[in-house]
Amino acid sequence: MIMKPRPIPNEITTLEALLRRLPPAYKRRRMLEQDLAHRQQGYDGEKNVDRFTGALLKNNFTLLHDVYLDSTFQIDTLIIGPHCMFVVEIKNYKGTITLDYKLNQFTREYKGVVTGFRNPIIQAMTNKLLLTNWLAEHNIDDIPIIPLFVISDPATIIKVIPETHDISSEIMHGEYMPQHVIKVNHALNKPHGHLHQKIGAMIVQECETYHFDYQQKYAIDPKDLLGGVQCTGCGRLGMRRQYNSWICEKCQTVSKTAHIQALTDYFLVKKPWISNSECMRFLGITSKNVATKLLKEHGLYYDPIHRRWHVKQVNKVPVGKITV
Ligand SMILES: [Zn+2]
Repeated sequence: MIMKPRPIPNEITTLEALLRRLPPAYKRRRMLEQDLAHRQQGYDGEKNVDRFTGALLKNNFTLLHDVYLDSTFQIDTLIIGPHCMFVVEIKNYKGTITLDYKLNQFTREYKGVVTGFRNPIIQAMTNKLLLTNWLAEHNIDDIPIIPLFVISDPATIIKVIPETHDISSEIMHGEYMPQHVIKVNHALNKPHGHLHQKIGAMIVQECETYHFDYQQKYAIDPKDLLGGVQCTGCGRLGMRRQYNSWICEKCQTVSKTAHIQALTDYFLVKKPWISNSECMRFLGITSKNVATKLLKEHGLYYDPIHRRWHVKQVNKVPVGKITV
């Protein structure tokens, strides 16, 4: 079964929010757009592979997508079977990739441009070791773990030097991966003694959400990010609140829900909490009651001690410890 579906990566939602909130003339906008396109391409590739994997493996295996553990390692797809587990690294490389094991040199050629990259199987092997340690800490230490590197685009050509170097058990196109998984699991022919669903449930419980640190990567000061409700018609920031709706003064688009995107952006790129006055400033409204109403509807948790709204429930502080 698919126990953990693939979420939209935090990097994508954050970059999209930043591009909405950065001034149009911001100097590194192009770089952010390129990074977003690159990450989106990777995500599309992962979803493409998921289609084959889900359809062919979900009945006899437990599938977890985008597993992030111990705040240290991330696995694109983890497949847990009755005899073994597979740690899958997925890449959406276009063109031709050449894996030169004589020179230990790995390159990809696309539209006449050649770029180098790390030995693709290394990442999956590292994840295998990290997962082995993690499982041992959770008293599971007897399951074979197999690293796989999967190319999502069926049109990508994989070249190997020397040609006699057999990598077919480590590197493959996404559409062949399920058959390979079934074959290897079957060949091992020895149950590891754990219920794969149970291991899956335990890992899902421990999974964290990867937080993309844009401030560190791009040196963007959150103070430079623009507030305002974005028009769903023309994209301009600063829709005006009018009765129970938002109206764009430029293109006259009316929306009842445009503030939802703005609040989502706020929590992605500013802080995981917001006060009533911060909300009024960010959405560009003057009514405290309207701000309260919109924050309530957004499904947030109110923290009466700090008088602010949180994305996640905050720990209840014993009343005796409150010093206001
Ligand atoms: Zn507009």
